[in-house]
Formats: sequence, structure tokens, C-alpha cells
Amino acid sequence: MKRIVIKFGGTSVGSIKKIINAAKIIKKRHEENNEVIVVVSAMSGTTDDLINRSRQVSDSFNKTELDVLMSSGEQISSSLLAGAIIELGIKARSWLGWQIPILTNDNHASSQIMQIKTDEILNFISQKGVAVIAGFQGVSKENRITTLGRGGSDLSAVAIAKFFQTDSCEIYTDVEGILTTDPSINKNAKKIDKISYEEMLEMSSLGAKVMQPSAVQTAMTNNISVHVRSTFSRKSGTKIISESDIDNRRVVTGIAYSKKNAKVSIVGVVDKPGVAADVFEPIGKNNINIDMVIQNTSLDGKKANITFTIKQEDLKKTLSIIEKNKKKINYNKVTHDDKLAKVSIIGAGMIASPGVTYKMFRCLADEKINILAISTSEIKISVLIREALTQKAVKALHKVFGLN
Ligand code: ADP
Ligand code: ASP
Ligand code: MG
Repeated sequence: MKRIVIKFGGTSVGSIKKIINAAKIIKKRHEENNEVIVVVSAMSGTTDDLINRSRQVSDSFNKTELDVLMSSGEQISSSLLAGAIIELGIKARSWLGWQIPILTNDNHASSQIMQIKTDEILNFISQKGVAVIAGFQGVSKENRITTLGRGGSDLSAVAIAKFFQTDSCEIYTDVEGILTTDPSINKNAKKIDKISYEEMLEMSSLGAKVMQPSAVQTAMTNNISVHVRSTFSRKSGTKIISESDIDNRRVVTGIAYSKKNAKVSIVGVVDKPGVAADVFEPIGKNNINIDMVIQNTSLDGKKANITFTIKQEDLKKTLSIIEKNKKKINYNKVTHDDKLAKVSIIGAGMIASPGVTYKMFRCLADEKINILAISTSEIKISVLIREALTQKAVKALHKVFGLN
């Protein structure tokens, strides 16, 4: 007998018909003589809807209350799914995060899981019950409801695999698995059979929403292999595993993108030690994430321009922080640009293949796509471009790197 955790994403439980379909898959897996723990997301669209409601109250809606609100979508789907499984003649019950409990830190809206109590659920599944756990949520030691960041049911599933020591962790979703790029913008995207944790972490951090980055990180540190597969077909999907278990290293494994980026340039700051720290300290203290950074110095070496990118939604706040800080930083002017996108190529084999950078830039030049900023690591190259050119860039790079 095996113990498995299977997670169903929002699109897999987006309607009553789909919930019944998911219940049938669960029944089948249960009849294969498995002990089954199910993790479920909110029905698709629900979480966005709840967030929008909070915004109607306030743009800075209280974070702890926002977690209570956002997590309610999973209460609905977990009960509907447990009920649908019971209808098929199988013992089942739902658990909310606090009932287990799934203990997290108190970093509301992006909490980390610290501990999961297992005895009650282990007892239930050993007596042929299917445990249905509401994903995306936990409880802090202050006894407040927490959530795990958008897409956080993936993390719930991986953490459950860890604490319940399951034999497998399967993520059922609306695509065949991890594809070479997002199929919604390139229909030539192909399924990847195996991908390393490192590559998947880059893919998801750089925008591939099919797996949440923290979930990949947790799988990687605990060496949990994850199988991402389709709810709507029986075919096997993608295995996310350790690099050493992958025989053929591809130069470029996949292409990711993220929209809604903004770029800010502070022009004419004095070029002396400490200036960059003065610029970024107050921005960081306001919990704004800086992504790419470029600094260039004037010919006489006295002045510098500092350019950086952030999320579009943080632009207004960032500009006002810089304005407030003008006396300290002492710059000539600030320019900004929103509606930008970051397009990235990812591949563990890149490190051993010279010429990848050149090939990427040439490809974009041939498409007349201007590069506004660049950042690289050993296994990825990212470029900032105009948002309207995202699809064109992804399609061209997908072809040039032989992924079609
Ligand atoms: P779920 O509701 O199952 O959690 P998500 O919507 O969070 O599913 O993630 C699945 C979606 O991720 C797909 O529908 C697809 O549009 C998008 N996606 C982006 N990049 C990729 C990729 N490289 N491979 C597969 N899907 C991707
Ligand atoms: N329902 C949550 C969200 O939309 C969690 C998830 O889907 O994984 O972000
Ligand atoms: Mg998801």
C-alpha cells in the first residue's frame, strides 16, 4: 500500500461538473489500494474575486483579515469535493488548515509552513478514509489564519508530502505538465518529461505560474519528487526531480515571462560609496522587491544613473519614496516606464554552451525587439522588453532554441 498526496488546482475544480470529475479520479486512486490525502485549491476565479471585494473596502485592507477572507475559497471547494467523494460511496472528510493544524509563521499573505500535525489524518486514512485538505492556508501560533502566497496550494501539497512522508506528490492541473513555455501564448509549447528542481525554480520564479516557487523550493530542499500532470487526461506529465537523475542536459529547457514590470531610472546621482544603499534601503523597508539593477557612470566618473525594475503595482509608491528621499540621494531627475515584460530563457546546459547569450540577443534583434535591461545567472538569461512584444519574443526564442 502506498500513501499519496494529490493536489487539484482551481481550474480542475472550477465547476460542479469538474469537482465530480476530480472525485472520480480520487476514487480510482483510492481503489488502487493507496492511502489518499487530497489537497484542493479554491474554484478558479474565487480568490481573485475575494481580493477584489477587500479592495472595495480599502486599498490597504488589513492583512490578517485579508487572509481570513482569501482562505475562505478553499473552505468551499474542500467541502464540495469531500461531499462529492462521499456521494461515490467512499469515506471522506474535509480539514481546514487550523483544524489539523498546519502551523505557519505570521508572515500574512506569504506565510511559511513550520509544522503539520499528522496523527488524526493518519488514523483516518489508515481506516480507508480520504482526507481532503483545504490548500493555501494555515494557522499562526497567535491562532490567526494565514495564507501561503498566490498559488500556495502547491506548497500545501509539497509540505504535506514532507510531513506525512508520502510515497508520491502529484499536482493535477489544466495542462499536460510543465511545458517548454506557457501554452496560452505559444501553441507550439511541448511537454517536458523531466525537469530539475533548479530549472523549475527559475521557470516558476520568472513567471511560469504552473508551480508556485516556494513549493519548488520546498521540494528541492527536501528532495521530494513532484509529478505535474493533467486532470483531463490519463497521460503521464512532468517529473520535477534532482539534476543528477536527468541524463540529457538541454541547453535551453524552457522560456518564461512575466508581465506588469516597471522600470525606474534615477539620473545624475553622485557616484560615491553608499549611494545605492541610500536609494534601495527605504524601498526595501517598504517591502518592495527590486528585480534587475543597472548602474552606469558618466564619462568623467562623477555622476551615475541607477536603473532598476519593480512590479508595476509598486511604481507609485516607489516614486513617492524616491521623491521623499531627494535630499539624501541628491539626483537630477527620475524617469520611469511601465508596461514592460521580462522574458527569460532557462536551461541547466547553458553554462557549458558558449554563444547562448549572443543567440538570444540576435534573435530578438531580428524581430526588431529592443532590450531595455538584462540579467543573467548560470542557468538563465532574462531581458526586459516592451510588454506588447512579449508573445512575439517568446515565440521567436522558442523556435530559435529548437523547442518547437
Ligand atoms: P492550477 O489552477 O492547477 O493551480 P495554474 O493556473 O496555477 O493551475 O497553472 C497552470 C497554468 O500555468 C496553465 O494553464 C498555463 O497557462 C500556465 N503556464 C505558464 N507557464 C507554463 C509552463 N511552462 N508550462 C505549463 N503551464 C504553464
Ligand atoms: N486559491 C489560491 C490562489 O488563487 C491558491 C492556489 O490556487 O493555489 O492563489
Ligand atoms: Mg496554481
